[in-house]
Amino acid sequence: KEELNIIQGALELRTKTVEDVLTPFTDCFMLASDVVLDFNAMSEIMQSGYTRIPVFENERSNIVDILFVKDLAFVDPDDCTPLKTITQFYKHPLHCVFNDTKLDAMLEEFKKGKSHLAIVQRVNNEGEGDPFYEVMGIVTLEDVIEEIIKSEILDE
Ligand code: ADP
Repeated sequence: KEELNIIQGALELRTKTVEDVLTPFTDCFMLASDVVLDFNAMSEIMQSGYTRIPVFENERSNIVDILFVKDLAFVDPDDCTPLKTITQFYKHPLHCVFNDTKLDAMLEEFKKGKSHLAIVQRVNNEGEGDPFYEVMGIVTLEDVIEEIIKSEILDE
């Protein structure tokens, strides 16, 4: 039974898209790029429990960086280091994909190992103005794997 589920999940990777499994960006834990890493900010980051945190500038839909929580290992909250100092030091590449990317293609991308989190965007050509890219959310390797095994992976 479980095996059948997994086989079915694997077959569906070819038809399902990242849009079907993403975490909407309104639900994402993110940080503003001008945050200062004082005790409060660092506690909040630790408490969120996430490994990777998108960093936005001005508005939440404008993601400009990714902070890896492990980047904070040498940061002393007493120093009140600006988040920008850290993101500019590590400069993790942003990995963007379109909403219609199929999950099998996404899995291949993740397997290449550049990053296990991607920003999902779509082309918004509704309305009067010019079309523009719009951030929809984030997708991680875990979201794809959950789709294969057809069940939630509970976090540690
Ligand atoms: P983590 O290692 O941070 O737990 P995973 O890659 O294991 O992240 O993903 C677990 C789930 O959490 C996935 O559904 C993913 O979309 C979501 N997720 C990852 N990072 C964030 C974040 N910063 N804010 C909200 N959800 C996130």
